[in-house]
Amino acid sequence: MSQPIENLLHENRNFPPAADFVAQANASDPAIYAEADADYEAWWAKWARELHWFEPFGAVCEFEAPNAKWFLGGKLNAAYNCIDRHAEANPDKVAIIWEGEPGDVRHVTYGELKDEVSRLGNALKQLGVQKGDRVCIYLPMVPELPMAMLACARIGAAHTVVFGGFSAESLQERTNDAEAKVIITADGGWRRGKVVPLLQITEEAVSKGCPTVQSVVVLNRAGDYPIPTGSFYHAWSELVASQATDCPCEPMDSEDMLFILYTSGSTGKPKGIVHTTGGYLTQTYATTKLTFDLKPDDIFFCTADCGWVTGHSYITYGPLANGGTVLMYEGAPDTPNKDRFWRLIERHKATILYTAPTAIRTFMKWGEHFPADCDLSSLRLLGSVGEPINPEAWVWYHEHIGHGKCPIVDTWWQTETGAHMVTPLPGITANKPGSATHPFPGIAISILDEQGEGPVVTGPGSETTASGFLVIDRPWPSMTRGIYNDPERFQATYWSKFPGKYFAGDGVAVDDDGFLWLLGRVDDIMLVAGHNISTMEVESALVDHHAVAEAAVIGRTHDLKGQAIAAFVILKSEVTETPALVDEIRRHVAEKIGPIARPDDMYLCGELPKTRSGKIMRRLLRDIAEGRALGDTTTLADPSVVATLKLQYEEKEG
Ligand code: ATP
Ligand code: MG
Repeated sequence: MSQPIENLLHENRNFPPAADFVAQANASDPAIYAEADADYEAWWAKWARELHWFEPFGAVCEFEAPNAKWFLGGKLNAAYNCIDRHAEANPDKVAIIWEGEPGDVRHVTYGELKDEVSRLGNALKQLGVQKGDRVCIYLPMVPELPMAMLACARIGAAHTVVFGGFSAESLQERTNDAEAKVIITADGGWRRGKVVPLLQITEEAVSKGCPTVQSVVVLNRAGDYPIPTGSFYHAWSELVASQATDCPCEPMDSEDMLFILYTSGSTGKPKGIVHTTGGYLTQTYATTKLTFDLKPDDIFFCTADCGWVTGHSYITYGPLANGGTVLMYEGAPDTPNKDRFWRLIERHKATILYTAPTAIRTFMKWGEHFPADCDLSSLRLLGSVGEPINPEAWVWYHEHIGHGKCPIVDTWWQTETGAHMVTPLPGITANKPGSATHPFPGIAISILDEQGEGPVVTGPGSETTASGFLVIDRPWPSMTRGIYNDPERFQATYWSKFPGKYFAGDGVAVDDDGFLWLLGRVDDIMLVAGHNISTMEVESALVDHHAVAEAAVIGRTHDLKGQAIAAFVILKSEVTETPALVDEIRRHVAEKIGPIARPDDMYLCGELPKTRSGKIMRRLLRDIAEGRALGDTTTLADPSVVATLKLQYEEKEG
């Protein structure tokens, strides 16, 4: 087959799991891959049966693209699985350890979680929320956020969590798209020493028009902003005070909606991704257990916000379905100091850390003395998610955070996939830095070319080296059931490029050993003089240079070559910018991956445009470089960054 995307980076360092890790691992027998492949329905059904079902399911899977159903006819409740069964067995076990940005700490046991969630569930019912309704949650990272999610699940309402950094317009847009009956918010939350005024923003959204919203519940977190009087706004504390702690779990059909979540918007307008109950819970449960090797005494620190899918699957549903203990943090990683995450790990003895490459590169930029000054000896496993992790960041993470003894799981998945799809298993996989390695057992991936040809066989022992579009072959339990109220967009976005197959939007390569290398989004792939080059590979080579802290690469239109490579580069703070250094960095890329990848333009800048979840928005850089009006900017973390870049760019180009 042809090579739709060149695969230029070569990385051959190898990190097999340590014998003592293997000896205690939840998964250590490579035979599970073959077992799951031989009968993937049986594999997932076995996991599903580890959950509690009020009524057992019949058929395991029914699939006619793009529609899947899993665990047909089964009845269960996500809150029952995440709370009640553990509260009965072990009421005093801590479910959530939480630290606020100002330093306040709370421990919530499974017994307390059950009472709080039940009270809130009853309160929502009192406000008229019924099974099948939607509730919008707009809260800071406090224990009440997962509690609100679980209260919805308990009474059969679907939640849609809106990240607390979003504006009134974004909140309004998501609330209206989801047709939410209630908004749950707080007076505010702490971020970098300041209060983010969530209630004020909610009032703004409501005054702009949220016709489906009948009430707003307001948690008192940050202080003094008064709750408006009248029957529309309700203080959380008053509302729950009078409620009983008995709130039966609604038996939900396996295919009843659990939540809607809007994607992070790296590539365009966010999509309202729908997940249902049985399949989603099964796969988040199984992946938490195997990928993170979660044990009863682990303290699992996932740094994502519950406003993103990572916080849904790996703060709330996966770990709690396993009866685990999660560590949650409210605020910024540099408040009061740049060692905050390491102090959190030290103080609460976290054993597993799950964070994003953008955060790791920021920590590298800040310097290794911050983690070095803290006791990180409790850590035993590290995870990465959100973007491809470049090998330099992987090795830094391994050395300076994991002290060489913690396996790293680089997990590829999406809001749409609900749970891990490509990831190492820490007791089985010998890692190569920068590779997400292999599909999770039971998952089948193809790499197709533009014509939909392939499939390239992936898996240990494959001799083919190829790259192309990442396509998921068989249905999987936690796959999205669609875009809320927009079946056409669902079909067009994911199921039309290769009819009947799920196209993820990402590029991927496979090496001689069958390891998968994610190449970023295919819309970001550049066509330079007839070669398809992934922006991720050039960025990875750039940050490999000792002077470079961060880089974003795009292709801009070029008369002769089709596209020319433009690199936006942030230098490390101690480095001085000189023309010689710029030349040297460009040469470094050419040496690392070949002359074809040498950036034509290099712009040194102070910041890159990122989504609020920390992903680089290359489409906006393309708009800047090609002098176009900027596309959708509502998911941008800091709009001033693109405005400044645009000005600088235009000045430079005249
Ligand atoms: P939108 O779909 O609205 O543009 P988004 O794709 O950023 O937003 P998410 O669902 O949060 O929204 O992100 C999923 C994407 O993140 C994947 O498609 C992939 O591009 C990237 N990604 C996630 N984890 C990894 C990983 N481990 N390696 C490489 N890429 C990853
Ligand atoms: Mg996406």
